[in-house]
Amino acid sequence: MASASRIEADLAVVGAGASGLYVSLVAAAGGAQVALIAASSFAQTASYWAQGGLAAALAIEDSAEIHLRDTELAGRGLVRRSAAALLCEEAPGRVRDLERLGVRFDADRRGRLALGLEGGHSVRRIVHAGGSATGRRVVRQLSARAAEQPRVRVLEHARAGALLLSDGRCAGVSCDDGRVVRAPAVVICAGGAAALWSRTTNPPGSLGSGLLLAHAAGAELADLEFLQFHPTAVTGVTGREGFLMTEAIRGEGAVLLDGDGERFVNELLPRDEVSRAIDARLLQSGERCVWLDMRSVDPALFPNVVEALQEAGLDVTRELVPVAPAAHYMIGGITTDLEGHSTLPGLYAVGESACTGLHGANRLASNSLSECFVFGARAAGAALAAPRLAPRAELVPAPLANPAVSAASKAALWEFAGLRRTREGLEHLLAGEQPLTRLIATCALSREETRGVHSRADFPQLDPTLDELHTVVGVDGAARRERWG
Ligand SMILES: Cc1cc2nc3c(=O)[nH]c(=O)nc-3n(C[C@H](O)[C@H](O)[C@H](O)COP(=O)(O)OP(=O)(O)OC[C@H]3O[C@@H](n4cnc5c(N)ncnc54)[C@H](O)[C@@H]3O)c2cc1C
Repeated sequence: MASASRIEADLAVVGAGASGLYVSLVAAAGGAQVALIAASSFAQTASYWAQGGLAAALAIEDSAEIHLRDTELAGRGLVRRSAAALLCEEAPGRVRDLERLGVRFDADRRGRLALGLEGGHSVRRIVHAGGSATGRRVVRQLSARAAEQPRVRVLEHARAGALLLSDGRCAGVSCDDGRVVRAPAVVICAGGAAALWSRTTNPPGSLGSGLLLAHAAGAELADLEFLQFHPTAVTGVTGREGFLMTEAIRGEGAVLLDGDGERFVNELLPRDEVSRAIDARLLQSGERCVWLDMRSVDPALFPNVVEALQEAGLDVTRELVPVAPAAHYMIGGITTDLEGHSTLPGLYAVGESACTGLHGANRLASNSLSECFVFGARAAGAALAAPRLAPRAELVPAPLANPAVSAASKAALWEFAGLRRTREGLEHLLAGEQPLTRLIATCALSREETRGVHSRADFPQLDPTLDELHTVVGVDGAARRERWG
């Protein structure tokens, strides 16, 4: 192999959204040589698109305990308490670290961080940067830092196609362009899988490729039945299908109206309840959308939302916005412990690719960006301690893991693994062409109850005997239950 295509690193990071950039920066600050493999430009990451912000207990009247209570309440009996407690304790420190890295969060008139309110939070605790441009601001700043950090080598437009194995552990990454990164630790930060569903708020690249890479190499996945639907994604506006109307808009007083102009739900309930209420209303009325009325909201707070809809010919200061639920956030992912270790030695995962169990069965809004930084710092520390590879260790590629996803497969997932699921529908998916779709169906079939974002029309009640039990998919593709400490 030509030497130009073989890269030696202490750490290979797959994906350059919030989690991949942060892991790379923390590891490089700790002295590691990092290879950062990024399939798309940073503007095509879910992180860049984030409009709400980061949840952190920073207000005087707030605390890690209250944040944990809200997270557990939203998570419907499935939150892994140890993981959620760490998130709530460490998120304020990560916000300070981001400030140190140059991210400028919005402040109030006295210069203190301005804190927003979102669904499911009992206290104002969401920090923003540039109003609804938070993701964009954070990613730009971290990318700029990564570009000037000599120990981070960015492999732009390189797609990880397979993980490399040596002696039962992960030892590197093979990219589709022929480049190979050899490293004793690989961190998957490749984002979620919500673009596997036809109606989605996510960038087109969120196809779960990190999950497939890990599973093909022998790591376990968990909780794939839990895909969060965002209640308010734009529908029927040309060029803006699936565009997200952030929860923070409802936090500032926007209301949801049905076709008769009536309010029908408390807009600040957790997402699963608001999504289900909209779905039920649409089923009842036969209409394809409900309406978000943000005419009383200060447009200056949501500049990129106002601008994006203005460009599409909709003036949110005067008109109602047509919205309906869309696939938004993959709660399940690569099974990880509190330091980001997967079940395969040498392989780590952070961010939306990972499943620590912290979100339970329903993610609390804005906990996911905080997760990227809290668990990013922890995983970077753990990965730096990975044992070195033997100099002549033979690297064997795991099976290739990037199958194409057809429009038919996306439509089937929306139809059969959407907001209302049944055994019959889910069984259709078991024969699907896409391996991750089949695993999602396996998990959803195995959970015969309705809990959080997973709603079974044939099992409409929550089954308390399944409290705290996670669904784990082994390398054989079969699902089993596990209780995590
Ligand atoms: C519209 C929208 C708004 C949101 N708003 C908020 C919010 O306000 N607050 C909040 O907490 N959360 C929000 N979320 C969720 C949050 O943004 C994501 O969970 C989080 O940003 C995920 O970060 P990540 O680093 O794990 O993945 P991403 O940011 O998605 O980055 C993944 C990266 O991996 C790359 N990649 C994928 N596969 C490969 C491969 N095989 N090889 C190489 N690279 C690969 C991608 O190209 C990309 O660079 C929002 C999500 C969306 C879609």
